[in-house]
Amino acid sequence: MIPGIPLPSRDGPFEAGFWAALDRGEMAHQQCAACSAWHFPPRWRCACGGTLAYRPVSGRARLWSWTVVHPPVLPAFAPFAPYPVAIAELAEAPGLRMVGPLVEQPGDPLNHVDPARLRIGMPLTACVIALADGVRWPAWKI
Ligand SMILES: [Zn+2]
Repeated sequence: MIPGIPLPSRDGPFEAGFWAALDRGEMAHQQCAACSAWHFPPRWRCACGGTLAYRPVSGRARLWSWTVVHPPVLPAFAPFAPYPVAIAELAEAPGLRMVGPLVEQPGDPLNHVDPARLRIGMPLTACVIALADGVRWPAWKI
């Protein structure tokens, strides 16, 4: 948990399945019933016009890119800076990318992973971490 972190809104009209999966310790994304395309962030319809439904994803990903966050940062993140942040591309769909912290295991501080260990394309595995009471977010295990 990160005291004082600004929390994401859970009130969007198409996000309930995303947050419900995280509450269960899983990750799910919308998939199109017509063309099978995966989507993130949540949306109303697929570009093809098909309807979307939440489906669990494997959690397998690769490191598409990363950056190291340096001060100045929001006060809640200051104790961890500098720290690496991943852009992970999910195995289900090239182009389905998510931003999140890198960890070796849930509970690691944001600055636990040494950026010198990171390589573009390296495998990552999703895990779910608690940002605050009742708010979970995917992190990426190296
Ligand atoms: Zn579609």
